[in-house]
This record gives sequence, C-alpha cells and structure tokens, in this order.
Amino acid sequence: MSTNRTFTMIKPDAVANGHIGAIINDITQAGFKIIALKYTKLTSETAGKFYEVHAERPFYKDLVSFMSLGPIVAAILERENAIEEFRKLIGATNPAEAAEGTIRKKYAKSIEANAVHGSDSDENAQIEGDFFFAENERF
Ligand code: ATP
Ligand code: MG
Repeated sequence: MSTNRTFTMIKPDAVANGHIGAIINDITQAGFKIIALKYTKLTSETAGKFYEVHAERPFYKDLVSFMSLGPIVAAILERENAIEEFRKLIGATNPAEAAEGTIRKKYAKSIEANAVHGSDSDENAQIEGDFFFAENERF
C-alpha cells in the first residue's frame, strides 16, 4: 500500500455546474498524477455504503441522496504526502470557511454540495480506491 496516494470524487454539484475540467486542471497543476479515473454514478445503495462511516451523523440520509443525484468523477491520485496535500488543495468542508484559491472555495456552494471528496487517511484512501477501481484500471 502506498502512502503517497489519495482518492477523490468530483461530486454531483460540481459535475452539474460544469466544473469537471477546471477541477481536474487544478488537481494536475498541483502536482498530482492521475492513477485511475472514472465517470460514473452512485446509486443510493452504493452511496450509502461509501459513506457508511457517517451513518450515525444527522446529515447522513441527505448526503446519501445528494451523492446519488447525478454522475460523479472518481479518481486515485498520487503525490508526495498525498492525503494532507490534497486536503489543503480542496479546503475546509464548509466552502464558506475554505481558504481563498481552494477547490471548495472556487466551486462549492454549501457544506453538503461541496464539490469534491478527499480521503482522510492512507487506510481510507486504499478502501475508497478499491471501492471504484479494479487493478487493471490503475496506471
Ligand atoms: P469528504 O469526506 O467528502 O472529503 P470532509 O472530510 O471534509 O469531506 P466529512 O466530515 O468527512 O467532511 O463529511 C463528509 C461529507 O458530508 C462532507 O463532504 C459533506 O458533503 C457532508 N457534510 C459534512 N458535514 C455536514 C453537515 N453539517 N451538513 C450537511 N452535510 C455535511
Ligand atoms: Mg471525510
């Protein structure tokens, strides 16, 4: 398992608002290499499974329904210190609190519809990447 990898999703709000290209550009400009990439859609079942860790949180039901509203882009990314550097690039969970120039500041509308997901640990990056990608889809 590599400690230099993270997993991301471009969420349904950012896809619907036409930000796929700009967000991928920001990600690659920040020095991340794309290891795997997929345009797909979560069902309420798969979104529920992906966010199972948040099952007890009050926003879980809304989050699952929001994440299955429309297509998403999933990706595995590689860079030195990937988890921390990617979370810096995307900014705070609530875009209103995200630093200037971050992806969430630029493209997100609300704490729920916050444009992108970023893994919070090496262990979760591995689990989340495995959720979407087979070995022969990684380069
Ligand atoms: P992500 O895991 O998507 O990268 P995060 O790690 O910044 O986001 P988490 O605490 O893991 O934040 O929450 C997961 C997702 O749940 C958030 O990205 C957001 O879409 C949603 N969320 C978090 N807190 C709230 C809230 N208070 N109200 C509504 N939705 C929320
Ligand atoms: Mg999280």
